[in-house]
Amino acid sequence: MPGLRNNNMSNIEEKREALAQDLQQFLYYCDQAEEMITGKEVTPSPVMDFSSLVDEILPLPLDKDAPEGASMKQLVRMVQECTRCPLCETRTHTVFGEGALPSRLLVIGESPGADEDATGRAFVGKAGQYLDTWLTPLGLSRETNVYLSNIIKCRPPENRTPHVNEISSCLPFVRRQIRLVKPELILLIGGVASKALLDTDKGVGELRGRFYRYEGVPVLVTYHPAGVLRNMEELKRPVWEDLKKVAAFLNLTLPGRSR
Ligand code: URA
Repeated sequence: MPGLRNNNMSNIEEKREALAQDLQQFLYYCDQAEEMITGKEVTPSPVMDFSSLVDEILPLPLDKDAPEGASMKQLVRMVQECTRCPLCETRTHTVFGEGALPSRLLVIGESPGADEDATGRAFVGKAGQYLDTWLTPLGLSRETNVYLSNIIKCRPPENRTPHVNEISSCLPFVRRQIRLVKPELILLIGGVASKALLDTDKGVGELRGRFYRYEGVPVLVTYHPAGVLRNMEELKRPVWEDLKKVAAFLNLTLPGRSR
């Protein structure tokens, strides 16, 4: 029945709205109770954003064809349950991505490798450990201010380059993830992520060195750490130049320099 889902939606949305108001009201009662107990005037609690608490208590119904409205928790589940492309048959784990929320920097790579597929965690293998050494000197880390993700969420067999249909299946998840992470800057690492997100045929060599925008968010491009590990001599320096651009944009102090 076409109308049914909408009825359910508006019902749940009304309940969510009422819950947010009740939570705000609860703060007001707490202020009043404090005033009664202490006998002193209490500064009213500020209006708070209860949206994540509301998402936890009354999540919106999951529509696996529409990640656009999903909360982070729902998106994680959508990705875990995804069967949009054949990679769901060969993966061990989906690799959603991980890091701080919100993040100053969102790094988007290509696809999970063997270590990521085995653990379900992004950038934990050799390339990921090398990526960490790019971020640490800038005061950036997944624990504090960076989110690490990939353009596709499942490992392609034998680490082959992702196919076009695999990328297009995953892009709606990535788009929603970007909105939820709310980064100040996106760093695309490698040709696959850059081509997919910037919708171009150009390679990293041509794309790097200037800013782009993705849905309003500034974007920079650099080489993939796995590629740099294979060709340190040529690629290490340009990556450092790109990282300096990241640091300048985010107003970060580079090692050996004071602001
Ligand atoms: N390479 C990527 O692009 N992503 C990972 O998560 C690991 C290696």
